[in-house]
Amino acid sequence: MIITIESKAKPCPGVRRAIALTEEVLKRGEEVFSIGQLIHNRREVERLQKMGLQIQESDLFADLLNRHDPNGGYFLVRTHGESEEILRKVHDKGFRMLDTTCPIVGHSQKIVDEHVRGGWHIVIAGNREHPEVKGLLTRTQGLGRVISSRQEAENQDFQEHTLLLAQTTVDPVLFSEVTHVLSKKRLGLKIMDTTCQFLHHRQNDIRTFGSQQDIVLIIGGKQSANCQLLYRTVKEVNPRVFKIEGPEEIDLEWFQDDDSVGISGGASTPRWQLDEVKKYLKRPL
Ligand code: SF4
Repeated sequence: MIITIESKAKPCPGVRRAIALTEEVLKRGEEVFSIGQLIHNRREVERLQKMGLQIQESDLFADLLNRHDPNGGYFLVRTHGESEEILRKVHDKGFRMLDTTCPIVGHSQKIVDEHVRGGWHIVIAGNREHPEVKGLLTRTQGLGRVISSRQEAENQDFQEHTLLLAQTTVDPVLFSEVTHVLSKKRLGLKIMDTTCQFLHHRQNDIRTFGSQQDIVLIIGGKQSANCQLLYRTVKEVNPRVFKIEGPEEIDLEWFQDDDSVGISGGASTPRWQLDEVKKYLKRPL
């Protein structure tokens, strides 16, 4: 087998920054708390937990605030932001903030803030359960709503002075469909494409890479929407694609001796996980 790691596969700048900031504070021996997963990669999160990161599920958020001494730790704001309510409570309790909000998400937050101040209605194309969308929605002061499918866009009416923007990680096909439907319904709709360009470029890269390999392994967290999107994109050009979290999920029956095997990963997949899979495949049987 010829095994190649895609040269352009790497974590996105927002994730790299969040991990670097978190490691830096943990290495100083400080306590760091986050609500839910820092990134959608279970094994990388476990590595950070071994360094001391403490993760609290969202339903135990109040417990976190009451149990910990505000002077003793940092509250970690995740790459895709937190709701205004959470930020206010953490601030009121006196916790220090470790803000790892990705600047691209920060840009969307600023756009929403400015438009809400100007009295605009806000429509966000995305997944209403995603932390970024929840965070943006809380900034709209009741002037916002989320559209998650073309059907939802078809079924709703929209006011004048409406801004449509995208969850940064939304499937570009959904954003384009929602844009198409809404622009026909409401002339003068203001549209801002806030999708993450890093992910956009990765779609093109992986399509090319996937078409050059006999078989492709996409490494990443099961919860990662980005890995799912990369998987679907490769599937369009190469049916022999598998999405796994690590080597333990590999079935050697997938391969033939003379296969070219391509390894790639999502926006939250660190390089060590790609190297690990390559090493596993190259080991003597
Ligand atoms: S996917 Fe894009 S928007 Fe999200 S954290 Fe990474 S760089 Fe930022």
